[in-house]
Amino acid sequence: RDTNTHYSRPATHGATGRIPVGIGRKRMRVVVTGGSGFVGSHLVDKLIARGDEVIVIDNFFTGRKENVEHHFVNPRFELIRHDVVEPILLEVDQIYHLACPASPVHYKYNPVKTIKTNVMGTLNMLGLAKRIGARFLLTSTSEVYGDPLEHPQKETYWGHVNPIGVRSCYDEGKRTAETLTMDYHRGDGVEVRIARIFNTYGPRMCLDDGRVVSNFVSQAIRKQPMTVYGDGKQTRSFQYVSDLVDGLMALMEGEHIGPFNLGNPGEFTMLELAQVVKETIDSSATIEFRENTADDPQKRKPDISKAKELLNWEPKVPLHEGLPKMASDFRNRILNEDEGKGN
Ligand code: NAD
Ligand code: UDP
Ligand code: UDP
Repeated sequence: RDTNTHYSRPATHGATGRIPVGIGRKRMRVVVTGGSGFVGSHLVDKLIARGDEVIVIDNFFTGRKENVEHHFVNPRFELIRHDVVEPILLEVDQIYHLACPASPVHYKYNPVKTIKTNVMGTLNMLGLAKRIGARFLLTSTSEVYGDPLEHPQKETYWGHVNPIGVRSCYDEGKRTAETLTMDYHRGDGVEVRIARIFNTYGPRMCLDDGRVVSNFVSQAIRKQPMTVYGDGKQTRSFQYVSDLVDGLMALMEGEHIGPFNLGNPGEFTMLELAQVVKETIDSSATIEFRENTADDPQKRKPDISKAKELLNWEPKVPLHEGLPKMASDFRNRILNEDEGKGN
């Protein structure tokens, strides 16, 4: 039945109809698109640990095989090189749809490809979910709020987004992905979930992905000045990756569609972030100011009351605990790089 691509069933139990394992819970077959990326690979670890079968779909634009290679020997794990912009036929129970570059440097690199990934990629995964009756979870973003006029941001806020700016391929792409998700739900009865993820950091982020936490941590380890863009007074709220993974799984398994903000409400200016990096990673670290990028949101902080109440979820790892965990992974990889092994 695994290769029966014409298999079709009502959208309630997923396509594989697996025999229950253990007490009260059947083994799921789960697709994670973008599963060899930063967030995806941590999600895969947790799904595999739970006993599920996991299929990763990734085109390796920003993902790395190394992030999931520890599962290669596991018969419950499968890695498919595939671009979600193209259709695919699979039989699964759940689809975690993460495929999309998340760092502004990466998503601006080929903006048309970014919007195709967000729109055509999400359409294909929703078409797949519809055909096989799988539950579909979209990883949307706090960027749907744009440069927000409401602070902190609640899920009811419709956002303040530039439709023609350099970030639009991502922001508007994700907004369209949310629209598609709701339309497949309303029109075709697809079971959907929407997460709006706020800035997340942790081990396995690309060393040079241009995001602020990875930049500051790499720079501090390499004894280079931390590059603060603009006056450094803009704010972000930083979530450790294990908290996000818990939130995504609670959302997928729960009864509520969302959208749900998943983020850590602890808000920091970029100057404060640099200070925490200095305190937790290298007390001799220095900073250097650089010109800011266009359309940079001035502030961002999630209101997570909805996720607390309905998903019984809230983040547990504060910045000063999460940063050292990330730094030890970065140190190893930077060391390997210096020894000419690449990362
Ligand atoms: P990432 O860049 O590390 O991972 C994205 C993965 O998707 C990579 O493995 C990449 O190779 C893959 N991918 C990209 N385009 C693809 C395509 N067309 N077909 C197949 N695979 C493709 O990013 P991440 O931080 O792990 O983000 C994962 C998801 O979470 C993204 O959808 C992102 O928008 C969302 N998100 C992340 C954050 C964050 O702070 N990390 C914040 C908001 C939203
Ligand atoms: N799709 C896919 N895998 C499937 C089913 C659909 O990739 O198992 C793609 C399909 O090729 C289409 C998209 O999902 O591009 C939307 O599918 P849907 O059936 O909703 O729309 P239609 O094919 O009727 O346009
Ligand atoms: N930023 C910074 N130094 C860097 C990289 C980014 O000061 O080396 C700033 C950037 O201008 C923005 C904030 O950090 O205000 C967060 O940027 P990031 O690219 O991490 O995420 P996003 O803008 O998507 O929230």
